[in-house]
Amino acid sequence: MAGSRVAIVTGAARGIGAATAVRLAVDGFAVAVCDLDEAACAGTVAEIDRAGGRGLAVGVDVSDAQAVRAAVDRVAAELGPPVVLVNNAGIIRDNLLFRMSDDDWDAVMAVHLRGAFLMSRAVQAHMTEAGWGRIVNLSSTSALGNRGQANYSAAKAGLQGFTKTLAIELGRFGVTVNAIAPGFIATEMTAATAARMGVDFEDFKAAAAREIPVRRVGVPGDIAGVVAFLVGDDASFVSGQVIYVAGGPRA
Ligand code: NAP
Repeated sequence: MAGSRVAIVTGAARGIGAATAVRLAVDGFAVAVCDLDEAACAGTVAEIDRAGGRGLAVGVDVSDAQAVRAAVDRVAAELGPPVVLVNNAGIIRDNLLFRMSDDDWDAVMAVHLRGAFLMSRAVQAHMTEAGWGRIVNLSSTSALGNRGQANYSAAKAGLQGFTKTLAIELGRFGVTVNAIAPGFIATEMTAATAARMGVDFEDFKAAAAREIPVRRVGVPGDIAGVVAFLVGDDASFVSGQVIYVAGGPRA
């Protein structure tokens, strides 16, 4: 029964993570709203409260092994054993290769790849014990290659391999593992890209929409809806897949 299940969403203070946390709460999950700054999670938790759901704000840097262990222990103690994990926390440090610093590379790998690894490793014991679990990793259409994003595209492609391997390892325990690869979603992340390029965000979105077959950019709810499907019982035979959610094929 979904009402008793506990979900963890990382990077859930805003954007896609926040929309996903609220959607899962509406669907009956108790949701740990995890982000770097615990105070920044208050808005998402308040929205969950308003929707009649149960949320818990948890401050955690997903790239810090000790912090991840402590956060997962806290979620298990305060909400119950987590059986859904959405690895959504992410950062960008875009630069062309010749300008990309060691730190640009390491920071992106640390949050996306190491973060998803640490969180998945910490949570899997609860899933295998329950004999049921769901992991959803946020990849990106940038996994197919994107100018200025050697670090990010490598991390997002890496997450696809990570997804398929976990699906193979954890399937026998009733755990499915899938990835969603969003295209352009209007969030602070894409707004920051527009600002860095000196382009008005509305113009940036309009230009992107012209290149997208459905002629609009995505919104966080577009991704939250697909996460909701993947973590539900209807998706129990879907595992190791990468679903491109981009208003067109892109893969
Ligand atoms: P966003 O608005 O920038 O939100 C990302 C959240 O992750 C922020 O709240 C951020 O916190 C948090 N975060 C960053 N580093 C963290 C860490 N080490 N530990 C815990 N939390 C951390 O991004 P978004 O657009 O919603 O994107 C969400 C995910 O979808 C990301 O993985 C992104 O790569 C992926 N994605 C986005 C798009 C898009 O078009 N927006 C497309 C494809 C894929 P701070 O604010 O404190 O840094």
